[in-house]
Amino acid sequence: MTQPIIQMKGVVKSFGCFQALHGVDLSVTEGEIVVIIGPSGSGKSTLIRCINQLEEHNGGDIVVDGIAVGKGRRRAAQAEVGMVFQSFNLFPHMTVLRNVALGPVRVRNLSWAEAETRAKRLLARVGLEDHIAKYPGQLSGGQQQRVGIARALAMEPKVLLFDEPTSALDPEMVGEVLDVMQQLAKTGVTMVVVTHEMGFARKVADRVVFMDGGRIVEEGRPDEIFNAPRDPRLRSFLQAVL
Ligand code: ADP
Ligand code: MG
Repeated sequence: MTQPIIQMKGVVKSFGCFQALHGVDLSVTEGEIVVIIGPSGSGKSTLIRCINQLEEHNGGDIVVDGIAVGKGRRRAAQAEVGMVFQSFNLFPHMTVLRNVALGPVRVRNLSWAEAETRAKRLLARVGLEDHIAKYPGQLSGGQQQRVGIARALAMEPKVLLFDEPTSALDPEMVGEVLDVMQQLAKTGVTMVVVTHEMGFARKVADRVVFMDGGRIVEEGRPDEIFNAPRDPRLRSFLQAVL
């Protein structure tokens, strides 16, 4: 039996009197690639930010790798969750190599030498071996996002979360980042990806989750979601984006 890496039950999140998540149930098993789609404002970012505790949920349960997350328990599970942001969030005053090595030194107690060896290996894997001494500002957006992916991998997380990783990129750079993500998906890493790239969802996802209005409205295999959508909200969303 594979135990879920992420288990969410009845998760509620409010911002003041506005409720962004209305009782979300979602579980993700080891090695699974889950792609979350849905209109802007449907709660996709809030959902994944609750998983890694950038937001604290107000109700329901979230268990990550067997550890309940929430009040006062933040640290334990957070280290097991890697995050790739839309806006890269690299440290501009640190080299690419340092950006990737920093987390393992701070959180995993590696020496700088060990962490830099790991960082070099991961930067080679995302095709950036020639850029390790540069600063983020000297790289293209696509290259910066590949650094972001290497940085997340350096923590050897149990699950990688991506929040619209290609939305801030010029169109010609989207492909190189999606290619890296697709390669990664083949290695057995567990991934939860929020994206508007429907081609990626179709090709790479094991399961596609459609959110609307703070709820999971429909989920299924890519062929089910794209070829036989049932809910009218999903149908009109797909009509608008495809
Ligand atoms: P998505 O990622 O699907 O576009 P979000 O999860 O960012 O949607 O947002 C869901 C809803 O919650 C939106 O209506 C948004 O305005 C609201 N929201 C998100 N973050 C905050 C916040 N920090 N304060 C108030 N409202 C928020
Ligand atoms: Mg979002």
